[in-house]
Amino acid sequence: MSIYLKKSGEYMETCIFCKIVKGEIPSSKVYEDANFLAFLDIRPLNKGHTLVIPKKHYETVLDIPDEDIKEMSHLIKKISQALSLAIAPDGFNIFCNNNQAAGQEVPHLHFHIAPRFMNDGHTFKWSHGRYKEGEIELIQEKISKFL
Ligand code: 5GP
Ligand code: ZN
Repeated sequence: MSIYLKKSGEYMETCIFCKIVKGEIPSSKVYEDANFLAFLDIRPLNKGHTLVIPKKHYETVLDIPDEDIKEMSHLIKKISQALSLAIAPDGFNIFCNNNQAAGQEVPHLHFHIAPRFMNDGHTFKWSHGRYKEGEIELIQEKISKFL
């Protein structure tokens, strides 16, 4: 999205989620503490679809410090539990789109927690790829080298 400027300091001025954090635009908050905020997605997959964000502007999971994502993952579980009790869905999806190619529209890190119901008409299916002979081992090795 071109309205989002590239320098991190400048993001604060234009980022819609930073504006929600600052209270400059309204949101339906379900949880707030010093570092995180959770609010209802305005265009929900199903009613109760919640977004969990750090108050600080980080673009993707690669940008947030380890300690913060640790805290955030606990919060995601806590909110999933609350959603399960409040909405009583048949299941729920937790997902996080990182970068435009992965479908990220708002470049401020957020996790979606979306309640799901049997036969609700949504699907998370993709067309499954295949590895050529020996390719899975090469990719396995390539990734594990960085870990
Ligand atoms: P993304 O595609 O970036 O993973 O998801 C962004 C989500 O933010 C979308 O599901 C969209 O509906 C939601 N969203 C965008 N703008 C607003 C807003 O101003 N308020 C709220 N509550 N949600 C928003
Ligand atoms: Zn932001």
